[in-house]
Amino acid sequence: MLEETPPSLRETRGLSVLPLKVFVNPQMRVLDGRTVVFQEACESITGFSAAVPRYLSVEIAGLNEKAESVTWQTSGWAARIIQHEMDHLDGTGPAQNGIGPRENSRFSRWPVQP
Ligand SMILES: [Zn+2]
Repeated sequence: MLEETPPSLRETRGLSVLPLKVFVNPQMRVLDGRTVVFQEACESITGFSAAVPRYLSVEIAGLNEKAESVTWQTSGWAARIIQHEMDHLDGTGPAQNGIGPRENSRFSRWPVQP
């Protein structure tokens, strides 16, 4: 998928290959409450996308595959993916929210913490 994205779009969105990370019982907190809007799709529902605002920077904490406590502070593309996946865990994925070409946006409501 990344190879199919034009280099200019990859740079604009900060797309990159991310390492596989496991978070059991994940908890997310917002580190930077500013948002950026990009067109976002979901592999669960092909053919649909929407402009979705996401926080710039988040922290995720949980247990890894060895049941060790782990924390990851990240921003940009990785932060967007975390928020997208946390929305799925929260039961508010794109299907439930009717994201499609005409319904343009949904906003993740996670508390911003200093
Ligand atoms: Zn998804």
